[in-house]
Amino acid sequence: MDMLCPKVDIPKRGKQARIVLEHLNNIDGTTVITQKIIMQEKKRIVEKDAPLKKDDLIVITGAGGFIAGNLALYFKKKGFTNIRAVDKKPLYEWYLHVPGVENLCLDVSNEANCHRVCEGAVEVYNLAADMGGMGFIERFRVECLRSILINTNMVEAAYKAGARRYFFSSSACAYNTLLQQDPNVRALKESDAYPAMSERGYGWEKLVSEMFCEEYWHERGMKTAIARFHNVYGPHGTWDGGREKAPAALCRKVIEAIETGKKDITIWGNGEQTRSFMYIDDCVKGIDMIMHSDALIATPINLGSSEMVSINTLLTKIEKIAGVKMNRKYDLNAPQGVAGRNSDNTFIKKTLKWEPNTKLDKGLAETYAWIRQQYKKRKAGERVGIG
Ligand code: NAD
Repeated sequence: MDMLCPKVDIPKRGKQARIVLEHLNNIDGTTVITQKIIMQEKKRIVEKDAPLKKDDLIVITGAGGFIAGNLALYFKKKGFTNIRAVDKKPLYEWYLHVPGVENLCLDVSNEANCHRVCEGAVEVYNLAADMGGMGFIERFRVECLRSILINTNMVEAAYKAGARRYFFSSSACAYNTLLQQDPNVRALKESDAYPAMSERGYGWEKLVSEMFCEEYWHERGMKTAIARFHNVYGPHGTWDGGREKAPAALCRKVIEAIETGKKDITIWGNGEQTRSFMYIDDCVKGIDMIMHSDALIATPINLGSSEMVSINTLLTKIEKIAGVKMNRKYDLNAPQGVAGRNSDNTFIKKTLKWEPNTKLDKGLAETYAWIRQQYKKRKAGERVGIG
């Protein structure tokens, strides 16, 4: 057998080698056995973390966008002094420019860029994704699926850089859609992702990327955190251009109606579809808590509000804030997504003794005021962030 097996190279340091024998059958009935070497990354020795120091490097991707921008601001306010914010958008399109933060304009679907981005990182928060509201994710499934490049390259770069913890922003769109066919849906609990029947494109990409995070912990020992966000809304997010979600879109339409005097509004679907909406302050706090909970390593968890409302009710709340009554029209052919979706918060309440708790009325008032301000600024010719 020795004669048939070519010599194999000695594995490089830092990797483990597994040698397998491959049996290849020739047409003449003889068998050739070859030795194949499979290089495996070593599993890290997992130790208890030292407490995060204020000058430890925190990397946040997608920071020109809504949630990651607010996350950079959150950590800055908490006193962290070494934050690297990354986005592929040019700086002038970012919603937030947090003073004292290193801003990098780089595309993190590119492997080399991911290594540059993760260099020296103690914690990595990966929130970059090509995404938007229902109008975007139903229309651009390929773009959504291609975010897998971001997530595979980022998790590997974080691991190679020796990052202590890695956060991934998953979505309620990863859940089985068959459980969401009625507006009076039962709230989704974490185990409802399997058997899998995620939202096409966007949801499947999230589910697979979650699996990467799970395996980087089990196989390689990097501590990963996975939050399944349910609709997030609030200031400093997309409110126009096609990627905006329902709360921002309805606020903008109401503002436009008041400005133009035309009180007609078109609602996608019959307006009876239900959702829950989490205010951004709860979202960034939840990210911090989930990332630093050892009980939640590599364990997907809901991060969302459990206050479920229909889109019609959402509009009524915005009308109340704006002091206006709109003439509602319904476009039954527009993208609507699943019929109902809510977050079951049993697990988060049990593990973190907390759940997102900002009341929708309060969060919407803040959001409406911010969008109105952006609308006015843009009308006056000032530059505003775009999604
Ligand atoms: P967002 O669109 O406002 O922000 C995402 C940012 O990622 C954008 O600024 C975009 O330019 C950037 N980006 C995209 N591709 C990139 C790339 N290749 N390299 C560098 N930057 C890139 O979206 P968001 O609402 O802030 O969402 C953040 C994360 O949370 C995403 O992963 C999203 O899927 C997830 N999520 C959001 C919601 C929500 O309601 N907003 C719900 C569920 C999940």
